[in-house]
Amino acid sequence: MKPKRWLAMLGASTFALTLSPQSGQTFENKTAIDWRSGSFPVENFQAYTSPFGYRPSATGGAGTEFHSGLDFAAPEGSYIRNWWTGRVIEVSDNTACGTMVRIQSGSWVHVYCHMKGFVSGNTMIDRAGGIQVWVGQAIPAGARIGRVGMTGRTTGPHLHWGLKYQGSLVNPAIVLQAMYASQGRGQLSASKPR
Ligand SMILES: [Zn+2]
Repeated sequence: MKPKRWLAMLGASTFALTLSPQSGQTFENKTAIDWRSGSFPVENFQAYTSPFGYRPSATGGAGTEFHSGLDFAAPEGSYIRNWWTGRVIEVSDNTACGTMVRIQSGSWVHVYCHMKGFVSGNTMIDRAGGIQVWVGQAIPAGARIGRVGMTGRTTGPHLHWGLKYQGSLVNPAIVLQAMYASQGRGQLSASKPR
């Protein structure tokens, strides 16, 4: 399946992005984010399975836990794509995040969890997927950086995608909405799943 092309043919649009109604935080227009430069982070997308924010504890009971990213269900082995041009700052495979790649793009840091493969030294290796990603590597937006797996704490194959802006967690759904909006409404409905 061809990757989703977010850098569609539409005109540039930049705008302030409200992080959440409560926080009133916005990315100022002066940062001039051109959302068309972003890539949807996974191929063969099926559904958003867990939103950002508080949710009932995944381990049961009455408690809640904070979900620091957005979950994308996709068939195991689906390729994961780098959201924004940047540089790899961390790889690991020994936390609940599973096999993980963290990438920095200016003030943004994006993390990809539960991938296939393993880490050796400073390199994430997914031989069957033909992927090697190492700390310090420059990665363009849309490049394949791994595949959907089930490493770490997960009950099914999905991509956990986390975002930080200047050190603060951001709801990835808001960024996706901004990306959708930058492509216009026609593109939005065309690229909706199902
Ligand atoms: Zn998650």
